[in-house]
Amino acid sequence: MLDAPPFTGMVLDRASTERKDPDWVRGRLTDPATRSLLAGQDGVLMRAGDAPELLRTTVAPAGEPILLGLEDGAARFAVDLDGLPAAERGAASDGAAVVGLRDAGAVLPPAEAGLAAYAMALLNWHRRHRFCANCGNPTDNAEAGYARHCPRCGANHFPRTDPVVIMTVEHDGRLLLGRRAGWPAGRVSVLAGFVSPGESAEEAVVREVQEESGIVCRDPVFIASQPWPFPASLMLGFHAESDGGEPRPTDGELDEVHWHTLADVRDAVHGGDPGFKLPPSVSIARFLIDRWLAAKPA
Ligand SMILES: [Zn+2]
Repeated sequence: MLDAPPFTGMVLDRASTERKDPDWVRGRLTDPATRSLLAGQDGVLMRAGDAPELLRTTVAPAGEPILLGLEDGAARFAVDLDGLPAAERGAASDGAAVVGLRDAGAVLPPAEAGLAAYAMALLNWHRRHRFCANCGNPTDNAEAGYARHCPRCGANHFPRTDPVVIMTVEHDGRLLLGRRAGWPAGRVSVLAGFVSPGESAEEAVVREVQEESGIVCRDPVFIASQPWPFPASLMLGFHAESDGGEPRPTDGELDEVHWHTLADVRDAVHGGDPGFKLPPSVSIARFLIDRWLAAKPA
């Protein structure tokens, strides 16, 4: 079982102080050791094979530079593949391929998967926040990609991460799992939902479980978190206990929701039943389920 959820473990120095100095950033743009990581809405540019890794290219950031940070002292920028001319995009690819972030996360080592999630999260935010939310004016890149500034009203905007709670809920040794419409056949998972304004994460756990299944849970305990840039979530993983009851889909989010025995969930890990499939290992949902299983006697 993994020590931490996938997409965690990014090791770059984010250069949080240096990036505020435009002269320093300009110096990084002309440093021969600087490289760019390329990612678009379809995924990240990576090389597969025995040692899969993200491609570090010499493609220069054009327009607004988005600095990811420093790797062994050398700058790494994120460049939006979708904004590159086709010829440059082809030349930069150099035998590598664009791989969707979920698939990339399943094969890349943790530090590379974390870097991929980070680059996608930052590019997603810039792509969707070109205009000031306060006055509608176009905004300017600031802090080498860590902020956007509105020249008209002076507002500063910072990259969004939207908190989502996701939780194992247990009663009498059984686990609450639900199924959403549109998921692959047989797939079930733990419940999840966005934290609402004016609500703690713990309160969101109790509310979401009750809204989606009618089940009352209590004593949520935080387990681990995971960046989930689809497009901008931060998954907050919890475990909660329940006194049971008959779950039923109540708010239209789920098609089905049931208590599942330890034996059934264990069988599903080995993929025995095509009608009962657990979420993929790249998700914190699976991390939480595996952790729940690992805590049970063999
Ligand atoms: Zn504004």
